[in-house]
Amino acid sequence: MNSKTKYIFVTGGVVSSLGKGIASSSIGALLEARGLSITIQKLDPYINVDPGTMNPFQHGEVFVTDDGAETDLDLGHYERFTSLSLTKINNFTSGQVYDAVINNERKGIYLGKTVQVIPHITDQIKKNIIKVSEKKDVAIIEIGGTVGDIESLPFLEAIRQFKLDKGRENVLYIHLTLVPYISTADELKTKPTQHSVKELRAIGIEPNIIICRADRLLPDDIRAKIALFCNVEQDAVITAKDEKSIYDVPLSLHKERLDAKIIEYLNIWAKSPDLSAWSKISNGFKNVKGSVQIGIIGKYVDLKESYKSLNESLIHGGLANNVSVDIMYFNSEDFEGDADKVKESLNKLSCCGGILVPGGFGSRGIAGMVNAITYARQNDIPYFGICLGMQLMTVEYARNVLGLDDADSLEFNENTPNPVISLMENQKNIGKMGGTMRLGAYPCVLKKNTLAYNIYYKNSKKTNSENNKNLVKTNLDGSVYISERHRHRFEFNNRYKDIFNDGKFVFSGLSPDGRLVEICELADRKWFLGCQFHPEFKSSPLSPHPLFKEFVAVAVKYKKK
Ligand code: GLN
Repeated sequence: MNSKTKYIFVTGGVVSSLGKGIASSSIGALLEARGLSITIQKLDPYINVDPGTMNPFQHGEVFVTDDGAETDLDLGHYERFTSLSLTKINNFTSGQVYDAVINNERKGIYLGKTVQVIPHITDQIKKNIIKVSEKKDVAIIEIGGTVGDIESLPFLEAIRQFKLDKGRENVLYIHLTLVPYISTADELKTKPTQHSVKELRAIGIEPNIIICRADRLLPDDIRAKIALFCNVEQDAVITAKDEKSIYDVPLSLHKERLDAKIIEYLNIWAKSPDLSAWSKISNGFKNVKGSVQIGIIGKYVDLKESYKSLNESLIHGGLANNVSVDIMYFNSEDFEGDADKVKESLNKLSCCGGILVPGGFGSRGIAGMVNAITYARQNDIPYFGICLGMQLMTVEYARNVLGLDDADSLEFNENTPNPVISLMENQKNIGKMGGTMRLGAYPCVLKKNTLAYNIYYKNSKKTNSENNKNLVKTNLDGSVYISERHRHRFEFNNRYKDIFNDGKFVFSGLSPDGRLVEICELADRKWFLGCQFHPEFKSSPLSPHPLFKEFVAVAVKYKKK
């Protein structure tokens, strides 16, 4: 297309949580559907260098990329809505920007000048934006936070300068606001939008397009009012109506002609979009036949954002099986302590077609997770353990089947005589917490004729399309391998391999050198599988992850019996 990259900056106003991430992802999806090459980047205003060290209760999930960056959860949306496989340069924080500038200052790079927010911090921000957008037709840059926050000011100043640097024909500002409906007055209110745009204009940014989040389509008179007061064209006032599913948003914004307006303003020649895949997804959700309940036993259950990718992956798995997945969260601490309480909690699991223990850190709630796994194993309920959930599956098996009563993970008991889960060799001398886990994509060789092998293999036969991010590859020696993303410090302790080799506990996925256990399963159960990696980071509605697809399928079958 154009030799020059076009830039779309997405800011948010009025309140947070309006869905800026989904809006940016949807813009990405629509532009890709028009045949354009895109990238999406998130700028986070906080001072942490990355979200890796932040409490999931505060910040939600940490999304991990193939290259091992611990990033904002919005990057998960970007990948789920587009064909992108992002890297560490697709997300940066104020902390990273200041870190880079201070390092430069210490090296004497600024030649004795006074180092200031303008131009040094803003130049660094612009450099990071340019770096990610090289060779792309369009770069979509989402600015975290809400206009008016002190923290995001340097970001806004940098993107203001961008128009002068790159030319007005190459830069577009999209502002997302809220238009609330006040039921007592029976009116939609435009004032918060007016104020937010005023704030933005005071910084020197004039939005070209305003996306208004509302519970209904905005009537023409409201759009005209917003256009007049905010100095935009009326057809550049776009409604982002609440939708049942986030995956309806690309279609709904397309209907509002958002992508048409974007390419008009940026003067891009692009084909009309092929949205057939999105229509199929949208219809798929509308035509589900029945539902299945999946129980998640975790410790961050009060903030659903902590399990964002997991939730979405289960929804994708449901879509692939024409069912809706009813995700039930259980606090793992309810499954420990007083015997009656535990029994009552376990009984609540009886409605579930499958039980899942997700990733997690720290010892709180571990005993409860182990009890839930025992319950699943004894009753042959489909079980899916992810990362911590796999580690606890082995602890449970060691304690209750192999007779190692005191088996544990070193993470929870440093003095256990039977550390079936131990610290990885290269993790033993780590002093810094940020960015030092085993992070990112690693290959895993699948053992033939196991549950894991069959699942991945079957899936790859059916759907090795361009959208499939879960490709199965074959080595020259005929071995089959996959690539999945990791985020952990502990691993299965190979000293115990012989004891676990009882004919029922199967190591179905190993690192290519055979030294790290990646997947294990129980051969005498219907579907009992744990993986050391996080498959939820590679699922999308366009290509649901095979493990989630099959887990939901077996849960449906289990409930039918
Ligand atoms: N806490 C475990 C470890 O560090 C599991 C991590 C996870 O579940 N992501 O190995």
